[in-house]
Amino acid sequence: MANQDIRKLSKEELTAAFAEMGEPKFRAAQVYEWLWQKSARSFEEMTNLSKPLREKLKEQFSFYGLSDTIIQQSKDGTLKFGIHLHDGRMVEGVMIPDDERNTACVSSQVGCSLSCTFCATGFLKRERNLDYGEIYDQVVLINQKALETTGRPLSNIVSMGMGEPLLNYDNVMQSIRLITSPQGLGMAQKRITVSTSGISRGIMRLADENMNFNLALSLHAATDEKRDQIMDINKSNNLESLVEALNYFHEKTGSKVTFEYILFDRFNDSIEDANHLIALCARVPAFVNIIEYNNVEGVTLKKAKSDRRDAFVAHLRNNDINAAIRRSRGKDIDAACGQLANKLEK
Ligand code: SAH
Ligand code: SF4
Repeated sequence: MANQDIRKLSKEELTAAFAEMGEPKFRAAQVYEWLWQKSARSFEEMTNLSKPLREKLKEQFSFYGLSDTIIQQSKDGTLKFGIHLHDGRMVEGVMIPDDERNTACVSSQVGCSLSCTFCATGFLKRERNLDYGEIYDQVVLINQKALETTGRPLSNIVSMGMGEPLLNYDNVMQSIRLITSPQGLGMAQKRITVSTSGISRGIMRLADENMNFNLALSLHAATDEKRDQIMDINKSNNLESLVEALNYFHEKTGSKVTFEYILFDRFNDSIEDANHLIALCARVPAFVNIIEYNNVEGVTLKKAKSDRRDAFVAHLRNNDINAAIRRSRGKDIDAACGQLANKLEK
């Protein structure tokens, strides 16, 4: 069993493995604490274990953690992480500081299988899922850097890096359980947002988890006719099925969903488009985040002009829609999802 990733074991499995080695249960508990709560990434760090035990563990187990990371800092303080994995593949993470919050944006897959036309990650093929330890480690890493650069820990986590979280369901859920567990990082569930391109069945499943994190839907167009043109996933998970899944989610969790809506110049930024969005908000209890597009090389869709954006948002607000504008951050370092990895591939 040499070379088994020790962090793939649940607490029960670890306890059983220790029993087999003739080690008492409390030792397994100590090691579990090192692995998650204390984020140790080598047996040397586990200073309350005897040297012979550390040697024994080293023979049996490995750590498949994150490897080296390239960090860039934007003029606005945003940090971008190019994170190498143990197999040489790369994902991205971002840390976005503002007056009140430090938000980490983490990846769930290497690449993405859904080729949304506007998204740089969509140009990369999906190579593999991240395991829950790799998702957890991104949070640990970004939290360390947040502390170093701003003096504050992370306050929020969003799954808005590379990949579609609901297509890596089990690992994403397990990472959230560990991040929020007192035996892990102990963060509040409400500080976590899972963003999905809209997998109806995955949303229904989330609703049944009895968890309390936030859900965001990357809507970007409020009619099937338009959404089909930019997001292939809409052809198999249309707005009707999403409305049904989101209402179920709301019923079960009591939480409003957030509609993410990137405004594209003369594609989805007219008053008529706003009216479609208003109609959709009448069917699903929701907040709206209007997102400024980070133009991507090779993509025809461009960021909307500011006067059209302002008219769009004013129209939403006049119709009692709770809409916020999210300005793009870290532009000078290509902090939008998929952009860095794309550059490095070229
Ligand atoms: N796959 C998931 C989560 C990752 S994408 C999803 O699609 O929701 C995270 C968010 O970034 C999505 O809302 C996506 O539409 C948006 N996005 C992708 N490329 C962007 C860009 N160039 N500028 C601004 N937002 C972008
Ligand atoms: Fe994948 Fe999300 Fe990008 Fe679409 S927007 S290609 S689902 S990462």
